[in-house]
Amino acid sequence: MARRRLDLTFPPRQATKAITYHLVKDFDLVPNILRAQIQPAQEGRMLLELTGSAEQFEAGVAFLRAEGIGVREAASDICLDDERCVVCGLCTAVCRPGALTLAEGTAELVFDKDKCVYCEACVVACPRRAVTLRF
Ligand code: SF4
Ligand code: SF4
Repeated sequence: MARRRLDLTFPPRQATKAITYHLVKDFDLVPNILRAQIQPAQEGRMLLELTGSAEQFEAGVAFLRAEGIGVREAASDICLDDERCVVCGLCTAVCRPGALTLAEGTAELVFDKDKCVYCEACVVACPRRAVTLRF
């Protein structure tokens, strides 16, 4: 079993299609929607995490592409501005998955992309506006 993150782009005509239902039912994949910007009749974006075997994953991606949905490996990330950050640790306190931590014994903020669920709690919590999210 592998876990991969995809950045999906929906054309307006597909914006409301129940693609996660098909990924579960037809391909036995486990989807986890991390972020979505979907409006009826408008182009949409979704950051989707999929868990399954390589074969299931390839079949699921082929299905998405056949539906006209743009599929890319996710490049979403959080961006830390070192000039603004004072390493106060507030963002680590609100980061439930533990993606942001303070390195033990040092004044260094560490980001683990694999643990991040792009909830933006750190963006809101930072008093210095040192964190931004790219999606
Ligand atoms: S809350 Fe902001 S200033 Fe504080 S450690 Fe996090 S990024 Fe740096
Ligand atoms: S976006 Fe959420 S999960 Fe990711 S680092 Fe910030 S608080 Fe943690």
